Amino acid sequence: MLRNPWCLMSFPVTRLRRLRRTDQLRNLVRETRLTPDAFVYPMFVCPGEGVRKEIRSMPGVCNLSVDEAVKEAQEVRSLGIPSVILFGLPDKKDEVAAGAWADDGIVQQAARAMKREVPDLILMGDVCLCEYMSHGHCGVVKPGSTPQSLGAAARDALSARQGVVARSRGLAVRSREEKEKVIDELASIVASVVSKFEIDNDASLELLARTSVSLTRAGIDIIAPSDMMDGRVAAIRAALDEASFINTPILSYAAKFASGFYGPFREAADSAPQFGDRRSYQMDGANLREAMREIELDIEEGADMIMVKPAMPYLDVIAAARDRFDVPLAAYQVSGEYAMIEAAASNGWIERDRVMMEALLSIRRAGASIILTYHAKDAARLLA
Ligand SMILES: [Zn+2]
Repeated sequence: MLRNPWCLMSFPVTRLRRLRRTDQLRNLVRETRLTPDAFVYPMFVCPGEGVRKEIRSMPGVCNLSVDEAVKEAQEVRSLGIPSVILFGLPDKKDEVAAGAWADDGIVQQAARAMKREVPDLILMGDVCLCEYMSHGHCGVVKPGSTPQSLGAAARDALSARQGVVARSRGLAVRSREEKEKVIDELASIVASVVSKFEIDNDASLELLARTSVSLTRAGIDIIAPSDMMDGRVAAIRAALDEASFINTPILSYAAKFASGFYGPFREAADSAPQFGDRRSYQMDGANLREAMREIELDIEEGADMIMVKPAMPYLDVIAAARDRFDVPLAAYQVSGEYAMIEAAASNGWIERDRVMMEALLSIRRAGASIILTYHAKDAARLLA
């Protein structure tokens, strides 16, 4: 009787452990490799001189003034990392995000200095408005379902609050029911402000486009919009072309999920929304098919490269995007992913370097060829 040929392949003929016996053999058959060429190092630039302020929730990552950022950029380049992405902390915020598109904006200043001092480092510019808006949202805020303006809503809330505060004086001597009534009133004031605003998609596009042109003029090589407004890639492409920046590529944060893993970043970039949250523009973490639509639309609008953010909780999205689209694919290993590794390691609960490399490898294996990571410098040192 003929044996099934597959049976010939099984144990004891086949022993997968044969190729795992030594370091050299494991290295020979390794399917996925990490190199510093894949890394992009995120940097937070702030006003001042000689400033190097460590971010509490991200040990080892700092807010840097322009002069310190240049030194950091030199170090990054010397480690074989080809690129940095810049975020800015402006000295003042307003309701039109002027700091994002001003020619002397903080990122524009940093870009000019870095281009001068480290000319072969690729500079990515994150394009968003949240760090520059007084309200901390990624777009222009307009009144929602009621005709009332945001300012009026805030004024109403404030005067109502003053009444509540006045009534709450002497809470200590009030009855429990009265205290609860005051608390309920405060809660309804908060809810009314939150329900009365909307992020105005189309009005935001103009500011995002203006920011992109200004950053490119300052020396940014790759424009990376992270706001998640609909149509922003097309708007930015048109504005760049209009300004004759036809060769400036766009790396779009195409599938950016509303995520709890961004927590430490908000401290780093001082960009937490002052009211509401970002769920009306960032993606719902449950939606893989919608992520494919977001990516498809961004490519149609002219994105040269796409990004999935965060990385490790969304490896399936990275893998699906790799399967389906033939443009360079980036993944952003975000602040919370970094902070978890650092926190567990500092407690002695995990081996930091090993977990760091395993996390990066998983992102690479899922299909991302470019990895934005706060671990870029340390990982590059290990790979050297
Ligand atoms: Zn934003």
